[in-house]
Amino acid sequence: MKKRNRGIRLVAAAAMTLTGVAPMAGAPVAAQAAVPGVAKSYSSLMYRSLTADATMAKLRATLIEQQADLKKRTVTAGKAQKASDSAQKKLATVTAGHSAVHEKLKSAERALSDAKNAVARQSKQRPRNNAAIARAKRAVAAATTVRDARRTRLHQAATELRAAKKVAGATTSAVINALAAADRATRAVTQTQNRIATAGTAAGYAAQAAAISRSVVDEVRPVFTVADTTSVYGTTVHKNVAFAFKRMVDDARADGVVLSGGGFRTKERQIELRTINGCPDVWTAPASSCRVPTAIPGRSLHEIGLAVDVTSGGRTLTRKSKAFAWMTAHAAEYGFVNLPSEAWHWSITGG
Ligand SMILES: [Zn+2]
Repeated sequence: MKKRNRGIRLVAAAAMTLTGVAPMAGAPVAAQAAVPGVAKSYSSLMYRSLTADATMAKLRATLIEQQADLKKRTVTAGKAQKASDSAQKKLATVTAGHSAVHEKLKSAERALSDAKNAVARQSKQRPRNNAAIARAKRAVAAATTVRDARRTRLHQAATELRAAKKVAGATTSAVINALAAADRATRAVTQTQNRIATAGTAAGYAAQAAAISRSVVDEVRPVFTVADTTSVYGTTVHKNVAFAFKRMVDDARADGVVLSGGGFRTKERQIELRTINGCPDVWTAPASSCRVPTAIPGRSLHEIGLAVDVTSGGRTLTRKSKAFAWMTAHAAEYGFVNLPSEAWHWSITGG
């Protein structure tokens, strides 16, 4: 098995769906509706098994991205907090400045009021002191100038204060948003870590599938129709094993082993074969009593597309075939088990 090549295909397969049921080669999805639940579970388990490595690789890649994102967002939140601290400090300074300017204006207004009162007092003085009145009026003019200047200064201070409040508000919002984003990023990392921790292994899923393979046969056989089959590189198999079978053929090819074979056959063909293969009778004689072992019609897994008589390079497999060695090492990964008495016969139960 060339793991590197296999990985690339796994990623491509996983990209189709990470959670769903196996896509069936060349099969309309709707046809799956008739398939019993256990067969669906079987095909889903095999799909998960065959994409487990790709799923894990994708989760790890996602985790790396999410961790980088979290780091970035943590830095952003830190910067936002700093900016906010600085804006609050500035706001405090500007607020204090505004209060001081306001106090100064009030004192200038009091001074102006005093100066105006002085003019009024002087104007009532008899005898009239024109020089003193003129002095008092100049004092009013001077106090007015100071008051106006301070009024202008207060306007400026108020503008600065509004601006500082706006900046402080914006930086506070930025902190809240940055912290929320960092929190989301943390949760995403945790979620992916949990998914990695709880992800099933290829072998685990394959073992679960193998454990229900006999139930699949029991449930598929009574409801089987030809519409439940599909062709994989010219080999007709049940749709529920099509994905795994195709992957097995592809992966074997990557290892330099060309697999093909005869999968589904009709009951009529099974009856023909019982005669061709010299079974003592069509309906009752055991498979082993035929010249070439041939199951009693209605009992063969070929009749429901769940067995394949494997050939390689046009030749039926023998125990000496390179393809047999490959199948022995790898077929279980794809849910295929050998019938010990027939090197070429591989099915989901070994029957
Ligand atoms: Zn067979």
